[in-house]
Order: sequence, then C-alpha cells, then structure tokens
Amino acid sequence: AAADSVPHPDQPPKTPETPAEPGRDVLGGLDPDQRTAASHLTGPLLIVAGPGTGKTRTLTHRIAHLMREHRVDPAECLAITFTRRAAEEMRARLAALLPDHAARVTVTTFHGLGALLLREQHERAGLSANFRIVEEVEEVEAAKETRDARETDEGEAVGELAAAEDGRADPDTIDFQDLLELPVQLLTKEPDLAAHYRDRWRWISVDEYQDVDETQYALLRLLSTEDGNLTAIGDPDQAIYAFRGADVGFFLRFQADFPAATSVQLTRNYRSSRPIVRGAVQAIAPASLIPGRMLTAHSAETQRIGIFEAADPAAEAAFITRTIDRLLGGTSFHSLDSGRADGHGHHPTGIDFSDIAVLYRTDAQADPIMDALTRAGVPYQKRSHDRLLARPGVREIAGELRQHGTGPLADRLQSAVSALVETRLGQEIEFRSAADLLTPLAAECGDDLAAFLGRLALGAEVDAYDPRADCVALLTVHAAKGLEFPVVFLAGCEHGMMPFWLPGADDHDQAEERRLFFVGMTRAKERLFLSYACRRSRFGTERETGASIFLRAIDPSLLERLDADGAHRGKPRDRQLRLL
Ligand code: ATP
Ligand code: MG
Repeated sequence: AAADSVPHPDQPPKTPETPAEPGRDVLGGLDPDQRTAASHLTGPLLIVAGPGTGKTRTLTHRIAHLMREHRVDPAECLAITFTRRAAEEMRARLAALLPDHAARVTVTTFHGLGALLLREQHERAGLSANFRIVEEVEEVEAAKETRDARETDEGEAVGELAAAEDGRADPDTIDFQDLLELPVQLLTKEPDLAAHYRDRWRWISVDEYQDVDETQYALLRLLSTEDGNLTAIGDPDQAIYAFRGADVGFFLRFQADFPAATSVQLTRNYRSSRPIVRGAVQAIAPASLIPGRMLTAHSAETQRIGIFEAADPAAEAAFITRTIDRLLGGTSFHSLDSGRADGHGHHPTGIDFSDIAVLYRTDAQADPIMDALTRAGVPYQKRSHDRLLARPGVREIAGELRQHGTGPLADRLQSAVSALVETRLGQEIEFRSAADLLTPLAAECGDDLAAFLGRLALGAEVDAYDPRADCVALLTVHAAKGLEFPVVFLAGCEHGMMPFWLPGADDHDQAEERRLFFVGMTRAKERLFLSYACRRSRFGTERETGASIFLRAIDPSLLERLDADGAHRGKPRDRQLRLL
C-alpha cells in the first residue's frame, strides 16, 4: 500500500465512473481523442490539454483498459498524482471502474512514492526500519512574510516527529526533501535496484506533470527508460508550483527526453459552461505557454460569470454568503424558519452546500468568509490541514509508542497513554483525547509502527470529517488544483492579492499568478463568481486595492455585474438567480 493512503477527511470524491460490466468497453465513456490516448499501448505518451478536457478521466480509463483488455498486472501499474486528495480521487475512480483489481495498483503522490521506496530499501539507504521524517526547517527570514504567500497543499504538509522526543540526536531522521532525494541517490548509485523497480512498475502514469520539480523528474527518469511505458499528463498553463521548485520546463521538453513519445491533445472542455471556458481562455491568453491553445466548451450553458465589487473583505464575505443563500433558495436560519429549505439538506434549487466551493489565494482570506458563513448558519469545511501531529499530546504519544513492545498498535496506544498520564500530571484529558484521535489510524496500521509513524509524518489528518455532511468547501486555489465544483466563488480577484504581491517585494512571477487565476476559474462547472475588495488590510496596514488586471482580459459580455445580494444589478432585489 502507498505510504500516504490515509483516507482524506474531505469531500468524498464524486465518481462519475461506473464499473465496467463484463463485455462492456471500459473506454466507452471517452470521446475519440480521449480514446486514442487511453488505448495507446506501449512507449511514452504525452497528453497535453487544458482544464476539464478529461485528462484525469482518460488516465484512469487507460489504466483500467490496460488491466482489462491487455491483462496488465495491476501490481505493475504506478500512478502518481500531486496531492493526497487527488490520489484518493484517482483510487476511487479506478475502484469504480474495476472493483476487483484497482486496490493492487500503486496510486500515490511523489512523496508517498519516496517513502515507499525508502521503507522497502531502508537498509541500503542506511536507515533503520523505523526511520522518521521531520519537518523542514523554515527559512527564518522568509517564514513570517511568506507564510501568507506560500500557500501549501497537503503534499507539503510534513511531520515533526523528531521534536516529539527528548531531543536526542537521531541519525535516522530524514526531512521531507530527503524523501525524494535519498531514493534518487540510492537508485543512481545502485543501477540494479533501479532496474528492479523498472521491472516492477512497467506502466507509470503521472498526472499534473507540469508541476514536477528537478528531484521528482530525476526519480521518474530512474524509474523509466527512454522508450518505457511512461504516460505524462498535464497542462503547462496550470503550472502553479514554481515557488516550490517545480519547473514547467520538464513538461515542455518531454518530447526531447522521450523522442519516441506519442503526443495527444484534447480540446473539448466537459467541465464548465461556455462563458466560463471562454473567459478562462481569455484570462490565460497573455501568458499561455501553448501557442494557439484550443479549448471549446462542450456544455451549451450560457449563464454569465458573476462579478462583484465589495468595499472591503467583510462586504465580500457578506456577498458570498447571501449569494449562497440565494443559490440554495434560502438556507439560513431565517429561511429555515420561513420554510424555504426543508431542513433535511434538500434545497429547492437542487444545489447542495457541498456543490459549492469558495477559493482564495491565501489562507488569511478565509477568516472574514468563515465569520460571515457562521453568522448565516451556512455549514462549511475549511481545508485547514488539520494534521494529527499538530494536536496537543499527539507528538508525545508518538514518541512514547516505541517503548511499548510490539503487537497491535491499538494496545500499544493504550499503554503509551497510561504511561504518559502517570508521569505528566494534569495532562490526562489531553492525552486521552489525542489517543481517541489516533485510534482510527492505529487500527488501520495494525502492528506496523513504522507505517503509523510514517503516515503521521506525511500529514495524516484528523478524521473528523463526516462524508455525508453537506458543507461548503473553503480552500486555496493551490489546493483546488484538479478538483471541480458546480459553483465556485473566487474571492480576492484584486490588485495585490491576485496577482499576489508582498509589500517590498518585486520578484513575484505574474505569469504564474495568472495561471493560478486560470486554475481557479476553471474549477467551476455551472456558476462562477469573481469578487474583489476595494480596500484590504494586509500586514497591519489597510490599502486601496481594486480589481485585478486579470479581470480586464475577460470580455465584458461574458460578465454580469452583481449587487450585494448576488442579484443582477438593476433588477428587483428578490429576483432568484437562475442556476441550472
Ligand atoms: P484538470 O486540468 O482541471 O485536472 P482534467 O483534464 O483532468 O482537468 P477531468 O477532471 O478528467 O479533467 O474531467 C473534467 C470533467 O469532465 C469531469 O467531470 C469528467 O467526468 C468530465 N468528462 C471528461 N471527459 C468526458 C467525456 N468524454 N464525456 C463526459 N464527461 C467527461
Ligand atoms: Mg485533472
């Protein structure tokens, strides 16, 4: 199993895939171009296509097709995605297509793959079986200011297990970067080992290839030969991780690296309404890395993109909240009182809270939005990276577990907690609640302490999510990569925020910011709302902001100015938004 196969406490992946009936073509749900890509058999393959064109769908169908029609052993398939959430989704889609075989496919993130390799080869890598992963030391000068800018996805979330113990120097602690660098060094030094893994994973697929960095690229080169069965999928215009060392250049030179590669383009967007596709293409045009990019909407829906100018972030949050209320046909407490929503999560418009996402550039923007949603009684779930390790008591327990023998972790967890409670007076509640939070993960890991600690270190999150809960999703644009929602609010489309700008800094990459805006817009299926504030406090100073220059690229005929209630300006206030 992959090192990061923690069920993600987030929206359950929506899986449009249905199991492949015996005799039914697993490629049946694909269009001709997608089918060409999915039925490509051997040798390198590059799928380069815009958002919503079915790249991820094609990839999962391709793996299912290989297993089903070409009798490829699932254990020989390796699929790499960018975030744990995306890996979860891919696993779910594969399981829906081929329920009997999907579990044997290795679906993981790059860091999960590194952890898997190191666990299997810990001796050769000079590590003990229980090596631990520690958090990278943040660069001191960068830490404070750029915390705001450096929006992370869960792939970046790392553990702090070393700090859990008594400070004893441990030669067996590695950091997050080592997770990839050590396997690269090892496989470079030991060609036989690299050959062993090439033989094991004869079919490798990489989603979001535009965001690989140098080490990830080196690892892939070691794991596949020049004419190997490597499928790379991506969109250079969605490259948004340069700040973390990703280099879109690796994508752009795939054909040179793998001269035998077949390249397939997909140009039909199945995700978004026509104005959203057109607006997004216009927005990315000035920075597009794909000359003459083609992207046409499959959908005939013509509802325009909503746009709202708010006085300040509070007014922006109020707009988002009221618009959500309208979209659902009235959801707040008042609406419940007046009987407009039935109180059972069924909304008259057919839209649920979980169909809605609010996206933003930096985490700090979420605060006023959460306040407004809370006041209106709108349930939401913020992707807060609520890591188990960050909870009080968890590190201490993790550090203590080693002293408690072998056997099922659930038992060891209990005895570790009892020991801690005895020595640390007054912290009983802390340790007992921490143990409760750790119990599901411990149960999943059985006897395997190394796996347990590894998953903690890789950012296992508090499993408090109720998958049936009907909640609005709040997340950063970075974390929304690859995902889709019927309704998307993209907040803070303003000067200084998107493109993001740090006071005193002048080296921000506007092209990357524009791509980020493009990624945000293209998460929406049916409705997209862009909003911005005219003033915003940042770093303790209130500044005049105003509309982002990115908005200027969009043809005004695709936009619809809205008032504070989310209604079209100039129309009666109680006019319902037409949704679907
Ligand atoms: P992104 O660049 O954002 O990652 P993507 O190219 O990976 O996008 P997918 O997520 O695979 O796109 O697909 C987008 C949406 O379009 C999904 O809801 C998918 O089920 C749907 N879709 C893709 N291809 C088809 C098709 N041939 N017929 C119907 N729906 C499709
Ligand atoms: Mg995708």
